[in-house]
Amino acid sequence: MINSIKALRVSLGSMMRKKVTAEYPKEHLPIQDRYMGFPALLFDAARDEPFCTGCMVCVRYCPTQCMSAEMTDNEKFAEGDSHRKKIINTFEINLGRCILCGICVDVCNFDAIEMSHEHELGDRMRDGNRVDLPTLLKMGTKYQSETGWKQSKPNLPSPKERAVIAEAKAAKEAAEAAANPPLEAEPEATAT
Ligand code: SF4
Ligand code: SF4
Repeated sequence: MINSIKALRVSLGSMMRKKVTAEYPKEHLPIQDRYMGFPALLFDAARDEPFCTGCMVCVRYCPTQCMSAEMTDNEKFAEGDSHRKKIINTFEINLGRCILCGICVDVCNFDAIEMSHEHELGDRMRDGNRVDLPTLLKMGTKYQSETGWKQSKPNLPSPKERAVIAEAKAAKEAAEAAANPPLEAEPEATAT
């Protein structure tokens, strides 16, 4: 009898305790910002184009060789609206072979790729886990808005911005020169 009461007390105590697990996949625990899901490409809203230039560094360093990329000339650079001479044209990651090591993120010099929060991308088809540029950018922009992601350094000025800066600098120098005219040389004393 006493043992039954003790057992009942333990059971009731467990029922009252706060739950620390979730019934996945019906319930999902919140994902921490530091969580490393599948890699995703980030979008430069200020330039309205991806950060990725297609430099291929991540492709070369990926230990499972599950990435491929192709760069192209950036039309926006030719028009003076972007500082990126080259831009990504196609990008593919076979997420079925990705081991989430994060090396692609570590070696990228352009703030172009991050380990997103995506982790439920299972597929029954052989190539169902191959994701292309639009999908990678969609994953990346979702990650950026969810985490308030900020780029590590500001963009370099575009050709049009460089011209404006040069114009402003020239105008400032002209104004300073007008405000401080050079002193006129004193006439030399004549010998008597
Ligand atoms: S996380 Fe690792 S395995 Fe996955 S794409 Fe990046 S470098 Fe390759
Ligand atoms: S993600 Fe970074 S390292 Fe990879 S191709 Fe783009 S710019 Fe280069």
